[in-house]
Amino acid sequence: MTFDVGIIGFGPAGMSAAIYAKRFGLSTIVFEHGISGGNAALSPLIENYLGFPEISGSDLVAAMENHAKKYVDKFVDEKVADVSGGTGRGFELETRREREKVRALIIATGTKHRELGVPGEQKLRGRGVSYCATCDGFFFRNKKVAVIGGGNTAAVEALYLRDLGAEVYLIHRRDKLRAEEVYYKRLNEKKVNLVWNTVVKEILGEKKVEALRLENRVDGTVSEIQVNGVFVAIGDDPQNEIPKMLGVTLREDGYVAVDQNCRTNVKHVYACGDITGLFNQVVVAAAQGALAARSAYEDLTKI
Ligand code: NAP
Repeated sequence: MTFDVGIIGFGPAGMSAAIYAKRFGLSTIVFEHGISGGNAALSPLIENYLGFPEISGSDLVAAMENHAKKYVDKFVDEKVADVSGGTGRGFELETRREREKVRALIIATGTKHRELGVPGEQKLRGRGVSYCATCDGFFFRNKKVAVIGGGNTAAVEALYLRDLGAEVYLIHRRDKLRAEEVYYKRLNEKKVNLVWNTVVKEILGEKKVEALRLENRVDGTVSEIQVNGVFVAIGDDPQNEIPKMLGVTLREDGYVAVDQNCRTNVKHVYACGDITGLFNQVVVAAAQGALAARSAYEDLTKI
């Protein structure tokens, strides 16, 4: 069978797109090979999603998933390896085991975490090097950890680790956080140690993380800090393999270029959520999912 809409990615954007598409009367197939919920699922605490003053990312996306799955005709728990078609003829999506046809495609593939790219990072990955405090923080309660980065993720993760009883060093390459002001105040209140103008040159340790070699960017001094763990939170890069396969126009930074109704330059291809790089917030992703589904509906039913 040919589905009306194929949705790739089942984070808040893809989930919202599924709800709206189905309610517009379009049949839906969803492809998600990772954890449903996207990056939001990994956030220890979300405080700015309307209606939920405080909720963990996993609880919020679990509620969203329960809701959205009711609107999914077929769920494929596999990576889309290839996409072909276009120019109004629909698209063929291939996974390892399946081949499916859709009339329109909504891309909600989000982003993946960035790596530091320093010696020791790969060797000690999973042995003290982590990219997710929610997933791994528990192992570091009452231990000494570093969080690298100065954005909202780094701030939220540092606070979460502090709440678990860890001694936390937030290491940022500049002298001002990119994170919202509210976090700066809280980091100070909770006695997170802020290390400014500093970059990690190497992660040290044989079988597990033992220390970091740091460089001060202002005076060039090199130092070492003993830590049991390091949480890398230096931002994300777009997962843009599918849009590339389809010839979708990307912005210079690799995010998908969309109009205000989430249409891309390719007929019947839409993008929503973090992959559009507009404002990586759950509330924005959900809203864009609705817009993408409405655009698909309008375009597919146009005479
Ligand atoms: P981000 O906002 O892009 O911040 C990344 C941070 O890492 C920046 O402080 C950046 O430094 C630093 N950085 C980047 N590359 C680095 C490198 N190679 N070495 C050292 N430091 C590096 O990423 P994010 O914090 O993951 O947030 C991603 C998006 O999700 C944002 O839109 C954010 O607002 C959103 N988010 C929101 C919430 C919330 O609303 N509560 C929570 C989590 C995430 P510079 O500042 O010098 O560039």
